[in-house]
Amino acid sequence: MPCFTMADLSGLWERGRKLCCPWGAPSTTSISCSLADVMSEQLAKELQLEEENAAFPEVVAAAEGPFITGENIDTSSDLMLAQMLQMEFDREYDAQLRREEKKINGDSKVSISFENYRKVHPYDSDSSEDEVDWQDTRHDPYRADKPTTTPRRGFIGKGKDITTKHDEVVCGRKNTARMENFAPEFQVGDGIGMDLKLSNQVFNALKQHAYSEERRSARLHEKKEHSTAEKAVDPKTRLLLYKMVNSGMLETITGCISTGKESVVFHAYGGNATEDKVIPPECAIKVFKTTLNEFKNRDKYIKDDYRFKDRFSKLNPRKIIRMWAEKEMHNLTRMQNAGIPCPQVVILKKHVLVMSFIGQDQVPAPKLKDVTLSSEDMKKAYYQILNMMQQLYRECNLVHADLSEYNMLWHDGKVWLIDVSQSVEPTHPHGLEFLFRDCRNVSQFFQKGGVAEALNERELFNAVSGLNITADNEVDFQAEIEALEKMNEDHVQNHGKKLSTFSGDGDPPIYDE
Ligand code: ADP
Ligand code: MG
Repeated sequence: MPCFTMADLSGLWERGRKLCCPWGAPSTTSISCSLADVMSEQLAKELQLEEENAAFPEVVAAAEGPFITGENIDTSSDLMLAQMLQMEFDREYDAQLRREEKKINGDSKVSISFENYRKVHPYDSDSSEDEVDWQDTRHDPYRADKPTTTPRRGFIGKGKDITTKHDEVVCGRKNTARMENFAPEFQVGDGIGMDLKLSNQVFNALKQHAYSEERRSARLHEKKEHSTAEKAVDPKTRLLLYKMVNSGMLETITGCISTGKESVVFHAYGGNATEDKVIPPECAIKVFKTTLNEFKNRDKYIKDDYRFKDRFSKLNPRKIIRMWAEKEMHNLTRMQNAGIPCPQVVILKKHVLVMSFIGQDQVPAPKLKDVTLSSEDMKKAYYQILNMMQQLYRECNLVHADLSEYNMLWHDGKVWLIDVSQSVEPTHPHGLEFLFRDCRNVSQFFQKGGVAEALNERELFNAVSGLNITADNEVDFQAEIEALEKMNEDHVQNHGKKLSTFSGDGDPPIYDE
């Protein structure tokens, strides 16, 4: 197997750099530090420069090696780069091999294969793009029908049409068909189409080989799964996570806690504190998904949030997703300042938010919906939430907007609020409607949970907002809420300003003048 020399490395690097930089090579600068330093700086720079929609650079896309670990921090960067370059080298070598194979074989029906000379094992070359979940392949419609088996009695048919299990032709065809049961990656060719008849001996040898390859593949995948915690993130995100580990901020990313429609949450052990940052011993990493579909229906939360309004219209969708992460960070910080139990922000990098972990020893605190509380704790939780909702509204100037038993964790004998990326200020055009929905969720949960003191949603809404909406049925109540929101919007239209807040006790809202 050819190993790369330093000249190969810089040649490959140069090529990789050209690949990722659509504007060609920048003017050369003198290299005064180590190759690894230059390369990681270059990597970072390239990523910064690269336009969001441009294809992910090949050299980085290859970074599927075991890099999310805190071991060997000093050398892991070099190791990863070396692996990336070796992979690139191997891929190019294989591509060349394929070209030669094609040239030699041409249209000939009998072809020779260079398979054994390939550097990248076919099972290894699974880029995340073309990887197919194995479960899908179980129902592959293109698969040959299951071969019919000879019954136990050893023959089928009647009279002169009887065939025994020893019938060579039938047996051979059956063996060929049975190859379809090998692992999907194991290429068996069109044996059925060619009416290939495999002897038992050949079939057994192939089967043996297929199984050992399958096991090898499983081992490889296992290793990869563990090393990258989860394949739920794209290479760019992995690089971000890698940098967090490599910088020592995180020690290890241990695994995935949750995969939602909009985000993936990982658990990590915190690393070394920096001058200005204490890293919690355990962290949660929320990666906002960069696939956009799920975020489309969330536009309403952010589009009208004046804090983000000016920026929203100018941004591309990827950047909007970063804004969700940013919003969560700002909202958590406000809550933290008000003393509301919630995760503490550690760092925000693009669409990746690192915060303190609510839970212990990698086990996240249970959601309120999953925990069985004593009636005393249930009552305690209710009053705590009422209090937190008021604080959130009055001190943080926020409405959670997705408050329910799914986004409240029970930890250390109290309720912790999470998932605040969609939280808005009360003066958001739909802020009060969101608050009403939150109140409905909370009321219903605690009323069903047997808390006799729990206010109904209308009472809770008034208690939180300090407003005094008197309607005694839900329809009228909501109509009044919408009227208030409209009044606020009209005020914005006429005065270019929002109402600072909605004051309570039946007074009209206070205008910020
Ligand atoms: P989503 O938008 O996917 O609902 P959440 O912020 O609610 O995102 O996180 C999803 C899940 O991840 C939560 O239900 C919780 O179990 C877990 N989780 C999120 N943040 C933390 C944290 N800081 N500590 C512990 N677990 C967390
Ligand atoms: Mg949630």
